[in-house]
Amino acid sequence: MAAKRLQLGKRELMFKKLLIGFILITSLLSCGYAENPGYLATNSSLSEQEISDLLWMVEEEKLASDVYGELYDLWGLRPFYNIGARSEVQHVEAVNYLLATYGIENPSSSTRGEFSNPDLQALYDKLIAQGTQSLEQALYVGATIEEVDIVDLQNALAQTTQADIATVYKNLMMGSSNHLQAFMSQIEARGYSYTPQYLDEATFYAILDGTWN
Ligand code: ZN
Ligand code: ZN
Repeated sequence: MAAKRLQLGKRELMFKKLLIGFILITSLLSCGYAENPGYLATNSSLSEQEISDLLWMVEEEKLASDVYGELYDLWGLRPFYNIGARSEVQHVEAVNYLLATYGIENPSSSTRGEFSNPDLQALYDKLIAQGTQSLEQALYVGATIEEVDIVDLQNALAQTTQADIATVYKNLMMGSSNHLQAFMSQIEARGYSYTPQYLDEATFYAILDGTWN
């Protein structure tokens, strides 16, 4: 009995050691990413345009996540949580991964509502001011973010020659079109109306009909 217990104890200890090792390695890796000084890494095979698009997209996805987090706290409407805390967080991680792959320093702050890019900071502040007015305005903010996201992803996709980056942009675009559908169904269910501001009408309604792409 005692020997058995001792064996179990050893196994547990071994597992704990493995776990600590794993945690150490992952935290070292994440430190490496955060402290990587290679802002425009010399060995990067990316164009300046591709780099600036990645830097923009990572914070734009963070903007979506942060705005929805804030609007969920304010209005308690489930889609803000499902889209913001789940989907957009994954979108941010997908771009984080690309930045790490290409050795580009990640400009994102870990604080909600804080952005390195002043244009995205201004957009965040404007959308939060709008979204706090009413639930109707908050839903328009959701649709607006997804429209802007799709337009920016389309442009970034057209400017990259890298297959891995293109794949991520396409996946994010697919996510955004689902999000746009979700916000539009919330808007329509409440009898509100929203007309596209950034996407052309053909694309906008094709997304809603599910006939896009
Ligand atoms: Zn997204
Ligand atoms: Zn989205």
